[in-house]
Amino acid sequence: MNNLELSKLIFPNLEKSPADYEEMYPARELPEGAKVTRLGPSPTGFIHLGNLYGAFVDERLAHQSGGTFFLRIEDTDDKRFVENAVETIITSLDFFGIKFDEGVTETGDIGSYGDYTQSHRAEIYRTYAAELLSKGLAYPCFLSEDEITAVREKQESEKLTPGIYAGWSKYRDWDKDPAIEEEMLSKLKAGEPYVIRLKSQGTPNVRADEAVRHLVTDAVRGELSVPENFQDIVILKQTGIPTYHFAHVVDDHLMRTTHVVRGEEWLPSLPIHIELFNDLGWDIPVYCHTAQLMKIGEDGNKRKLSKRKDPELSLDYYRSQGYHPAAVREYLLTILNSNYEEWRAANPEASVDEFEFTTEKMSSSGALFDLDKLNDVSKGVMLNIPACEIAAWLKSWSEEFAPEYEYAFRDMALLEQILDIGRHDARPRADLVYARQIMDFISYFFDESFEIVDEYPAEAAEDADKILSAYLESYDHSDDNEQWFAKIRELATELGYAAKPKDYKKNPDDFKGHVGHVSTVIRIKLMGRAQSPDVWTIQQIMGEAKVRERLSK
Ligand code: GLU
Repeated sequence: MNNLELSKLIFPNLEKSPADYEEMYPARELPEGAKVTRLGPSPTGFIHLGNLYGAFVDERLAHQSGGTFFLRIEDTDDKRFVENAVETIITSLDFFGIKFDEGVTETGDIGSYGDYTQSHRAEIYRTYAAELLSKGLAYPCFLSEDEITAVREKQESEKLTPGIYAGWSKYRDWDKDPAIEEEMLSKLKAGEPYVIRLKSQGTPNVRADEAVRHLVTDAVRGELSVPENFQDIVILKQTGIPTYHFAHVVDDHLMRTTHVVRGEEWLPSLPIHIELFNDLGWDIPVYCHTAQLMKIGEDGNKRKLSKRKDPELSLDYYRSQGYHPAAVREYLLTILNSNYEEWRAANPEASVDEFEFTTEKMSSSGALFDLDKLNDVSKGVMLNIPACEIAAWLKSWSEEFAPEYEYAFRDMALLEQILDIGRHDARPRADLVYARQIMDFISYFFDESFEIVDEYPAEAAEDADKILSAYLESYDHSDDNEQWFAKIRELATELGYAAKPKDYKKNPDDFKGHVGHVSTVIRIKLMGRAQSPDVWTIQQIMGEAKVRERLSK
């Protein structure tokens, strides 16, 4: 039996040939330099910041160059399948502004390079496995779990590289030994389970400095020199489902991907992919291996973000806390490209799409993720979003994630006024960070959430009742800010407090405290807290009735 006959025996009824697929999926007609990128998430139900980080890279590369960005669902790991996971992927990415041109959507595939779900592409993978078999570059391997374990133990004891490679699966050499050929054929006939392995052409176990190496240019890491592969990796599992390696190579070729953006955890398997691309006679795409997302851990050292320890790794976290997608996007760009912040400082008003993103400016040694920094960035981003938009966005967030705040959305005009306090000042207030924080920040406006959280300052605590009744008595809602403050000064002086803090500092024995202590008492009675935006402005928004009611309670 020759290779072609074995290939036909294993895959007797293929519908198409590789040439047919080349014709079905021709080179894309795109302008010179246009990049084709893809996101290939697995539907595990957990969509994380790393996915979004990679998606931004894909999206920018494609859309900056007039290319195409598509979504492919990589569901070849049947054990990890989770219901509705595909919808979760699509809706979460969409929420953060990631728009695909092509691929899987909630209402079916778009684009002519599909099917875009790997589990629907079994026939295609079989065709290319048959191709490799027919060229003598793959073989059916019947090693059982136990046999593979025995191989591993032997390799361990002999200090050899673990794995199945030349010499370790007898089936690899079926064409050199009629007895093995006979055994293989009878096992095939009996329907015994097997996998299809690559018959690697690499040389096993040579000294590192003698290994054949491939030179590859990684768009993030620059020139890489990687040793050739020699492992007979599985390309089709017993179930006929391809491994990641095989599906990646076949799909990215047929879908005409030009740039493969993926996490650096895939770097060690790059030699396998190079061998597969070469075996199939295809061009190798440009790889962009992105750095891991890191954070400063509890012990002050950098560590990888972990699913178990860091809720902020999950994209759900940002949605349920109510981060504005524009803020997350802005922040991710700051960790994506080292020159982004500088650009942003010079172009505060520009759309992020105007920034020229490059893979060369990406970190290759771990991108540091920092929630405090995100919050800082968010403050600035929120300042540029009109209050009416923030109000509408908070409302829809609350409907989905926090219905307990329903009372805050009964009067949208009022909410807008509240949100806008101090945002148009010469030095604008940047108090708004994310929805949950905002709801807490403005909670004192609503009787449903009003709560006295701070204590009166010691300097004025004893006089609190006196201060409040005098204030209520002199209160005139039509006073302007200056008149209002003049009255507070007067009231403070009458009760023995300095009208100016600096007078009190100079002669502390002459006064009980200063005007700030007096106004803090008022502030706490009205707002429940010692820190808040301008009291006069808040009173104007609250309205006279509520001010009087709170003061007299
Ligand atoms: N399905 C792979 C993953 O989730 C994608 C890797 C790639 O983009 O090639 O890690």
